[in-house]
Amino acid sequence: SGTLVIIDGQSGELIVDPDPETLTEYQVRQKAREKTRSREIAEAQRPAVTLDGHQVEVVANIGSVAEAEQAIKMGAEGVGLLRTEFLFLQGDTLPSEDEQYQIYRAIADVFQQLPLIVRTLDVGGDKDIPSIDLAPEQNPMLGERAIRLCLARPEIFQTQLRAILRAGDERNVKIMFPLIGSEDELQQALGQLEQAKADLRARNLPHAETPDVGIMIEVPSAAVLADILAPLVDFFSIGTNDLAQYTLAVDRTNETVAHLADPLHPAVIRLIHQVIEAAHRHDKWVGLCGEMAGDPQAAALLLGLGLDAVSYTHLTLPTMRLRCRSRWSPYH
Ligand code: PEP
Ligand code: MG
Repeated sequence: SGTLVIIDGQSGELIVDPDPETLTEYQVRQKAREKTRSREIAEAQRPAVTLDGHQVEVVANIGSVAEAEQAIKMGAEGVGLLRTEFLFLQGDTLPSEDEQYQIYRAIADVFQQLPLIVRTLDVGGDKDIPSIDLAPEQNPMLGERAIRLCLARPEIFQTQLRAILRAGDERNVKIMFPLIGSEDELQQALGQLEQAKADLRARNLPHAETPDVGIMIEVPSAAVLADILAPLVDFFSIGTNDLAQYTLAVDRTNETVAHLADPLHPAVIRLIHQVIEAAHRHDKWVGLCGEMAGDPQAAALLLGLGLDAVSYTHLTLPTMRLRCRSRWSPYH
């Protein structure tokens, strides 16, 4: 109590009772950081065009209505990943179609005609929820998670798909399926989407009839088969948190090995490169919404590989936008 400490959020260090030189050094760094931050915020709405003219779509990862509003203020050009899990974590019962619709619509209203990518439910694995009774599994990360769970429980999936489609009426809502691992799985998910549309038509409810549909590339099999999957969708979004975990056989939630789940591992970078090339061959765009997108050095590499959109937590958006426009320097 009363001891001066410095928290260096960049290196993850805590310096207790710093000596005068260290203190001065950090005060200088803090001032410089504050100056850069003010510039980032002031320029948050300027387009992210690199010095060689490549326009990057800078969108946000969000998980609530409040974050949607903050993201707009931070210059988000839309949402690259709406994690819908938050709606399912709130109580012991599943949210109804109407409850989901209200929230998705409120978020879509914030973004109006800007794109809003809604990811369908991604639970199981590390994300346990009280409202769905998940059987205990020995390897939950390799078990009934995300799209696998939704395909196994069509009533949960259908309810969510109808809510998203209704929220997309006259809005730019796109639908994204997580953890797709094969063409067959994707076809099943697309079949479910058609079923949800047919039900809404039968109920005469306004909804998006032809929303863009994409998949997350987070299973190595999907990355390897990107050229087969690309013609079936409108876009890809690379989920490097899981792509690294599954490519490198590292449980991202296991503290002792999590540091090995490095998305800059050459094997992961090679897969990312293949995915971008396969998508572009089929005139499809590719975004990336894993944590690595927020690492400036990684971002420089990813843009060099031709990525069309990057999706970050909203607080990082102004930083990344300014960096996209600047000459890249390892000293940023
Ligand atoms: C990912 O896997 O990279 C991703 C964005 O999804 P989540 O972190 O929600 O699994
Ligand atoms: Mg994931």
